[in-house]
Amino acid sequence: MRIENLHSEIKSYLDSSPLNRVEELAIDRIFTYPLVAIAGAGDPLFKKMKDPSVIGEHFLLPEEWLPGAETVISYFIPFSEQIRKANRKSGLPAKEWVYGRYEGEQFNESLRKFIVDYINDTGEGKALAPMLDNRFQIVDRLSSNWSERHAAYIAGLGTFSLSRSLISSKGCAGRYGNIITTIPFPVTARAYSDLYEHCNFCGECIKRCPARAISMSVPDRGAGMEKEVCANYSRDVLFPRFNPRPGCGKCQTAVPCEERIPDII
Ligand code: SF4
Ligand code: SF4
Repeated sequence: MRIENLHSEIKSYLDSSPLNRVEELAIDRIFTYPLVAIAGAGDPLFKKMKDPSVIGEHFLLPEEWLPGAETVISYFIPFSEQIRKANRKSGLPAKEWVYGRYEGEQFNESLRKFIVDYINDTGEGKALAPMLDNRFQIVDRLSSNWSERHAAYIAGLGTFSLSRSLISSKGCAGRYGNIITTIPFPVTARAYSDLYEHCNFCGECIKRCPARAISMSVPDRGAGMEKEVCANYSRDVLFPRFNPRPGCGKCQTAVPCEERIPDII
């Protein structure tokens, strides 16, 4: 199987799936076309995820999810202009955004399943999506045994940032997905060497955050966003108002990294 063929199948799925639309808000597309990259299942960075300073021992390696794993397919699906634009206002999230996050994740789940079934049905190899597997677990509320953003970093899709978003060449406003497979697709070269290379530390996301969860003052650059503060804002302010759609995303919209890699400053 060629990765180009899989990429075209994913694009066709984005075009045709009714789950990529929200009729009640006249949203024609939640997501636009994806970026797709491939990590080697044996990349040493996966082992590094087991380090307590990164994720921890509970992180499962690709081989532990799927024996015989050769590669990890990683994709980024950017939110459409309609959804991003609506959320550029300050304060509470736009209705379009919270639907994009909630209904959008239902689409993303269906996309992961589509890719897994597509690969398994060809008989050329096996595939599994950790997020759809019943072993997937969230530990201590904020950490899990697989991380799609870390896998995306390893695959060469983008780097981390002050707001903890992953900034790809199509920005940070969107969703990620991963499929582990026994097919040895050609591995994508990482075009960066620093964990935060795509973030220019402009601080615009600090001004956008209604919960004051992001700060330059945290010594470790990677801890610029305090997950607990963001999660509490979602639980206390957004969930009662938008249940079951407590999305925020102010730090991903109206910022220089919304839809591209920001200029160095
Ligand atoms: S707004 Fe600026 S500081 Fe914040 S994540 Fe984007 S590039 Fe980095
Ligand atoms: S999602 Fe909202 S609350 Fe959380 S860090 Fe971003 S702007 Fe702040």
